[in-house]
Amino acid sequence: MAEVVGTAVPETPPVATLSHFVGGRFIEPQAGAFGDVFDPAAGRVCARVPLADKQATEQAIAAAHRALPDWAGTPPLRRARVLFRYRDLLERHADELARCISSEHGKLVDDARGEVTRGLEVVEFACGIPQLLKGEFSENVGSHVDSWSLRQPVGVCAGITPFNFPAMVPMWMFPIALACGNSFILKPSEKDPSASLMLARLLHESGVPDGVFNVVNGDREAVQTLLTDPRVAAVSFVGSTPVAEAVYTTGSAHGKRVQALGGAKNHMVIMPDADMEQAARALMGAAYGSAGERCMAISAAVAVGDAGDRLMQVLAPMVRALKIGAGDDPDAEMGPLVTREHLERVRRYVEIGVAEGADLAVDGREVRVAGDGFYIGGCVFDHVTADMRIYREEIFGPVLVVLRVDDSDAALRLVNAHEFGNGAAVFTTDGRAARRFTHGVEAGMVGINVPIPVPMAFHSFGGWKRSMFGALHVHGPDGVRFYTRLKTVTARWPDQAGTAAEFKMPTLG
Ligand code: NAD
Repeated sequence: MAEVVGTAVPETPPVATLSHFVGGRFIEPQAGAFGDVFDPAAGRVCARVPLADKQATEQAIAAAHRALPDWAGTPPLRRARVLFRYRDLLERHADELARCISSEHGKLVDDARGEVTRGLEVVEFACGIPQLLKGEFSENVGSHVDSWSLRQPVGVCAGITPFNFPAMVPMWMFPIALACGNSFILKPSEKDPSASLMLARLLHESGVPDGVFNVVNGDREAVQTLLTDPRVAAVSFVGSTPVAEAVYTTGSAHGKRVQALGGAKNHMVIMPDADMEQAARALMGAAYGSAGERCMAISAAVAVGDAGDRLMQVLAPMVRALKIGAGDDPDAEMGPLVTREHLERVRRYVEIGVAEGADLAVDGREVRVAGDGFYIGGCVFDHVTADMRIYREEIFGPVLVVLRVDDSDAALRLVNAHEFGNGAAVFTTDGRAARRFTHGVEAGMVGINVPIPVPMAFHSFGGWKRSMFGALHVHGPDGVRFYTRLKTVTARWPDQAGTAAEFKMPTLG
């Protein structure tokens, strides 16, 4: 049984009522629908979040629309200066932000601090916007003709984000959108919305003009309004695949530019020559970090040849020894799941795996932690087959499935046959095997002896197949492309006026 870290149950704090942030002000609705936000470590409600209806969402759209022309016309260098101040404020408030994330999400405070840093790196990238927006110029493409391309803001942009990275995923989006001269409406997850409000407060302090950045809390109705309102030009979405697909379809049908990142089942292929200790340690962080609630978590380990038994020998005791506890417990290695509903869903998947005949080598359901928190320990299923639901479907919890295949070709076929293609990793000491895998694997992000190959802010992040809908990935160069429209100008300044009319297709000739 996994080790239990005693977590003292704190006294009941008051339940806060959260707000929206629109036009540079926090707006606390007095009426309308509210949702419960939980402290997952204690298993009780810690806040009430307003759920915006169409009208409330339209107020945020109107504010963003009003603020757009001035911000779009602000020189990129001035916009960058605001982001430089934002970067410093974020660093100063990183611990506060990390605690806020952990208190509603459940992840370890240290892990949340890492999330803030990864978001901050996107702000740093966006600070280089004067350089990133430099266009292309061709002199003398024809007689007295020059041609150049420039990038202009798209307009009002919306970001719809999931619960699992309440600060980092929004920061994949708005720093670049704002740097490019757009205004923005963030609709964060209703499960852990407080981090977004803190990000808004800091943006305001850094000098972003009122209305340029807005947070509207809510669920389906808010999302539907953002997807159909003609004033919204572009939508970035991150969440589960069914919702990502629906967002992409609806947003595109309403003439918007959409990028929609969905779910995942990330594979790690362990070759027989791999260092098993290294592979097992990597799997621990990648499968159980953040309780498996990461879109880049490794949830399927593919053991090649005789790697399976050797891997399990090292891995199973490590999983049993996982220290489970509250996010602010310094001894804990894994926190609770986000909600009771999600915990029950993950437990149901464990039951499904048992019923499907997989070998439950480590059963995290036995773990007990003091209080009513939403805890489950790490689970490992061995001898899983490709037809099982616990392999085919995204569980999004601390449940690792181990499959065994004969050789590297079979491993590649298995990974490529899965409907998702977010991340994939190979652990090997053979450079040729690594190269073949990198070349042939159908996934957007690939790791070689790196289990979670999340690209840095200056590269772009995104999956393939049903892990992503839309052409442009997030942050990095694709982020700048997504949040700008390309315009190409062709100009003629002849030495003397008065050329004759031309009726044939102009060519250089
Ligand atoms: P979710 O799809 O339930 O919610 C995401 C967002 O969509 C939230 O803001 C939510 O309010 C909204 N939403 C939910 N249902 C909706 C509906 N029917 N209509 C309109 N809007 C709706 O996802 P989640 O549970 O918050 O997050 C976990 C999922 O996100 C996992 O599937 C995970 O793989 C995925 N994810 C993917 C990436 C990636 O980069 N590909 C990153 C993080 C998370």
